[in-house]
Amino acid sequence: MTTINYKLLTPGPLTTTDSVKAAMLVDHCTWDDDYKVITKRLIKKLLQLANVSEETYTAVLMQGSGTFGVESVLTSSVGQLDRLLILTNGVYGLRMAEIAQYARLPYDVLEFPYNAVPDAQVVAEFLDTHPGITHLAMVHCETTTGILNDIQAISQVAKARQLTFIVDAMSSFGGIPIDVADLNIDFLISSANKCIQGVPGFSFIIAKKEAMLATKGKAISLSLDLYDQWETMSKDGKWRFTSPTHVVIAFEQALQELEKEGGVKARYARYQANMTQLVSLFKANGLVAYISEARQSPIIATFQLPSYEIDFNEMYEFVKSQGYAIYPGKLLDLNTFRVGVIGEIYQADIERVSGIFDAYLTNKKIER
Ligand SMILES: *Cc1c(COP(=O)(O)O)cnc(C)c1O
Repeated sequence: MTTINYKLLTPGPLTTTDSVKAAMLVDHCTWDDDYKVITKRLIKKLLQLANVSEETYTAVLMQGSGTFGVESVLTSSVGQLDRLLILTNGVYGLRMAEIAQYARLPYDVLEFPYNAVPDAQVVAEFLDTHPGITHLAMVHCETTTGILNDIQAISQVAKARQLTFIVDAMSSFGGIPIDVADLNIDFLISSANKCIQGVPGFSFIIAKKEAMLATKGKAISLSLDLYDQWETMSKDGKWRFTSPTHVVIAFEQALQELEKEGGVKARYARYQANMTQLVSLFKANGLVAYISEARQSPIIATFQLPSYEIDFNEMYEFVKSQGYAIYPGKLLDLNTFRVGVIGEIYQADIERVSGIFDAYLTNKKIER
């Protein structure tokens, strides 16, 4: 077995606790009640985390990574007589457009720059000049850059026009408080391996019951049929097809640990403290954050490399040899890299990482 002794500063999969990993040392069967009640408990807990009532909201788990959840929602809720507007300011927004394209859904894309949030005024104007749009989809934390989008402002635009509001909250749910009911969100998508701090293997969808019921018969894919999955699972906690048992058990452990930490608020505070420290220590190292402070999420940050020549791969190997895995940048026009602060990461880690970068960059300057 290969032993890996570095922590992940990546936005999922991320560094989990030993207890979450240990929870997976069980081979659980799937047909009996012991197992099905776990799924039922998870659904209940997710609704509690979202702070929504079981009368108006419901939840469902879906095999696969986060994208499978997004694809399930888009292809099960947007019919041929509907029209979807996708707001983008990063690759995850663009991925929704790709899903719509593959599925031949009727859709429009409204693009914003990667370092700016979708502007509610612009969105409202677009909607008013493009009647016929029934669904509005956007990303909450755009993991591409780490920018935190203003779902509150856009939700008002959506609500005023009675649009179905779809939010990809993959990298924020569980780590940033989200007022799902207040924001009138119809479908929120997240996954096991992000802020809940579980391992990869399934996504989950929190949906308004009414919106969920409206997906009946609309899906164009069997395995991603949201309604069918939900109907089967809400009966007795049964997954339609093989469920990722180890992931499910680890997820329950992760949820318990989230509760123990003090819930979403406490986790948010830890992530926020990590990020504030990261941005300020890196600034002292000469590494400038790409996103403005006001829009910087407490999840992941993009940094511009200093003007002198730095090879990301070489830097990556050095940082990894010192115990941390970072993430490449996703911007085409700038030499950047990303550092995530979610998972089992604390301020001591941030200090250590800053020291590692300081050593690397100082050395590079001397070499020159
Ligand atoms: C992680 C992530 C996804 C899903 O990515 P997968 O690789 O399919 O898990 C979708 N949207 C956002 C914003 C993400 O951060």
